[in-house]
Amino acid sequence: MGQPADSVPCIGISINFIHADPTRPIFKGMTLQFLEERMTLSVQRAGAIPIGLPDLKDVPSTAALLSRVDGVLLAGGADLSPSSYGEEPLRPEWAGDRARDEYELRLVEQARRLGLPLLGVCRGIQLVNVALGGTLYQDIVTQREGALTHRDWHRYDALGHPVRVEADSWVGRLYHGATELEVNSVHHQGIHRLAPSLRATAWAPDGIVEAVELADMSDEWIAGIQWHPEWLEAPDQGGDPRTCAGGRACGGTVFEAFVDVCRQRRGQARAAAS
Ligand code: MN
Repeated sequence: MGQPADSVPCIGISINFIHADPTRPIFKGMTLQFLEERMTLSVQRAGAIPIGLPDLKDVPSTAALLSRVDGVLLAGGADLSPSSYGEEPLRPEWAGDRARDEYELRLVEQARRLGLPLLGVCRGIQLVNVALGGTLYQDIVTQREGALTHRDWHRYDALGHPVRVEADSWVGRLYHGATELEVNSVHHQGIHRLAPSLRATAWAPDGIVEAVELADMSDEWIAGIQWHPEWLEAPDQGGDPRTCAGGRACGGTVFEAFVDVCRQRRGQARAAAS
């Protein structure tokens, strides 16, 4: 990686669950905890060591696990449970993954206690919003009149839309003050009521919030983006390294910047300990 091994930050990535299924031919009746590969490779490519964060089920174990990492990445995956933000599911199929919510809310609480930078991606931005007191649309299509298509199974990560970006924000500065970016869109839910301590920093053309950060980033570092930067790879050679195929905003830029934040935090933590 071209830097002293000791300065390489470790980034904990939240896992996805495949819950127990008695009809599955392998791991019959067992719960699986897994990572999506392109997320781990994106973190690695950006110069950090990706570490999957298993659900250890209790606070002391979670705190001990997080004491070994320099930042936390909340990954994409299943919908949140409306019960995590004080609502009942409007339809059974929108009940979400309450077990994963509990696990990730525990991660957020302990990461904040340890002062670890937190970045949420897709489900992760929604989790951050809920953890800080906001709410979600359980289903953008039926709850937000005139909304764009934000997820399509057939087009999947080929689906996208532009976002208007606040130039004076973490995401805006990543792209050198660009006020419009092309991003992918693979989400069923979205931010409804923004958490009081967050500010929105990017919006889809229909007004859906696509990026957030803490209104005050001086003491704590928390940000989220609604798109999937791990699925937006830079061109192999030539061209603007901030732009990937289809003119979309290169995802590597997001990971490199987050790794920088975590590297700084690692340096500060080590200086304080010595
Ligand atoms: Mn979207």
